[in-house]
Amino acid sequence: MISKGQIWKYYDGSVTISDWMGNDLTVVNAARVSFGKSSSELAEKDEKLINYLAVNHHLSPFRHIQVSLILAGIPEIVMRQLYKHQVGVAYTSGEFREVATCWNEISGRYVEFEPDFFQPRSFRKQHDKNKQGSYRDKAVDNEAEAIAIYRESVASSFDNYKKLLDLGVCKEQARMVLPLSFKTSVIWTASLEALVHFVKLRDHESAQVEIQDLAKIVHDIIKEIAPVSTKALLERKS
Ligand SMILES: Cc1cc2nc3c(=O)[nH]c(=O)nc-3n(C[C@H](O)[C@H](O)[C@H](O)COP(=O)(O)OP(=O)(O)OC[C@H]3O[C@@H](n4cnc5c(N)ncnc54)[C@H](O)[C@@H]3O)c2cc1C
Repeated sequence: MISKGQIWKYYDGSVTISDWMGNDLTVVNAARVSFGKSSSELAEKDEKLINYLAVNHHLSPFRHIQVSLILAGIPEIVMRQLYKHQVGVAYTSGEFREVATCWNEISGRYVEFEPDFFQPRSFRKQHDKNKQGSYRDKAVDNEAEAIAIYRESVASSFDNYKKLLDLGVCKEQARMVLPLSFKTSVIWTASLEALVHFVKLRDHESAQVEIQDLAKIVHDIIKEIAPVSTKALLERKS
């Protein structure tokens, strides 16, 4: 069983469960409210109901499960892809209201950054067929040279950042010279439906390896919180 504060390692960063609300029973009871009924334990008929809801696109009950994650040490290149997942919170009854998945991020306008850059585990080869993709387990032939170029490049970006600050340039502009490997931290709160959608799209071989690895962690977390609902949503045809 998972607990609040539990940490998953993500490269040299981490994903921590800050908090969550709801489980499979929450989905069942949100659906049964229409009949003025509720369950206190998950029975087989409840599992069938969850599958029925997922298959038939009655998705609002799944939005009552909310999960709040602290993502620390995530490279900007992954965050840019994560920010694309925007639809996350909605309400079952009443007027249709929707707010974006919610984010809070450390601000480089307030805080002077430390030299904290993402170091890839390996420098992968460009995929022959998928123009966006790479081979998870195939490194370039001269990887030592690639590592040296990368390290020199991020170090010189950070030196230039410090030089701009020393000249009195404001933090909000000096940070513009930092590369996409720069690491950031955010709190991400999203509904189960939004998280499963994210996992479906990003724990997929067509996605960038570094976001696949984040999606695998999110999948591990949500299947602990709501195993029946997570499976039902993942398996449904959209
Ligand atoms: C492998 C891969 C490659 C990608 N490559 C690129 C790329 O090259 N360039 C790029 O810009 N993006 C790229 N993306 C991002 C992609 O286009 C989506 O923005 C991202 O996956 C988020 O998905 P989404 O829009 O379904 O999510 P959300 O914005 O969270 O939306 C969730 C769902 O809500 C519904 N929805 C959202 N907005 C509306 C609306 N306005 N009207 C009606 N329904 C709506 C849709 O059903 C949608 O699937 C890529 C994504 C993947 C997985």
